[in-house]
Amino acid sequence: MVGKVFSNVASNYDIMNDLMSAGLHRLWKDRLVSKLSPFPGMKHLDVAGGTGDVAFRILESISSIRRRALQDPLNDGLQEETQIYVCDINPNMLNVGKKRAVERGLGEDKSLTWVQGDAEVLSFGDNSMDGYTIAFGIRNVTHIEKVLDEANRVLKRGGRFLCLELSHVEVPVFKELYDFYSFSVIPQLGELVAGDRESYQYLVESIRRFPPQEKFASMIAEAGFQKVEYENLVGGVVAIHSGLKI
Ligand code: SAM
Repeated sequence: MVGKVFSNVASNYDIMNDLMSAGLHRLWKDRLVSKLSPFPGMKHLDVAGGTGDVAFRILESISSIRRRALQDPLNDGLQEETQIYVCDINPNMLNVGKKRAVERGLGEDKSLTWVQGDAEVLSFGDNSMDGYTIAFGIRNVTHIEKVLDEANRVLKRGGRFLCLELSHVEVPVFKELYDFYSFSVIPQLGELVAGDRESYQYLVESIRRFPPQEKFASMIAEAGFQKVEYENLVGGVVAIHSGLKI
């Protein structure tokens, strides 16, 4: 079902994202990456990252650190090789990201690796990553606990887990407005722009089924992460959860 939904939405993914969030998804992803504090030489895994949106931001952040370091006469060159792995279960979504990488002049960039794979059974080694991100991806997996266990397994000690996801609005009045928007406007937008009401109906329903902020934070802690916290953005329309593997 999820495979079919993302195969259907892949071609209209960018325009629908911008329309549905009024462009805010860009700021939310910026915030996610600023919380990650990327560094040159890091090994990072972006799961459900088909579009490359998060990976491109991480690379840009590391490039700007390198540019600043090059202007510093005392810099050591920061030559360590950065590796950003983008893992997604859906080849159509990965193709969207690869195409965008080419458009950005990153088609041959050795720091970027595209991997088709399932968040619930990652092909990466234990303790191999400095960072792990998942943006708007965990809501659609079958077993959230397995994804969190895998995130914990692949991270090194000191590695950071970050999850950006549509979440739950509890602010009265805003909640009612948001419910109307998501249940009525989004499926209609899906129909008008992408010719696919059903997939967008499914995506909205999956937001309601996703655990509320506190519950999700306790699931992250149960997977073995420490210092678990979350930040609500736009009153909880989205939340960024984070945890450390210590
Ligand atoms: N992270 C990107 C972004 O924020 O633009 C894409 C988010 S998109 C809403 C959700 C992605 O999750 C899709 O590309 C889908 O193929 C992927 N996905 C769903 N289930 C997955 C799984 N079990 N393992 C890996 N990726 C999965």
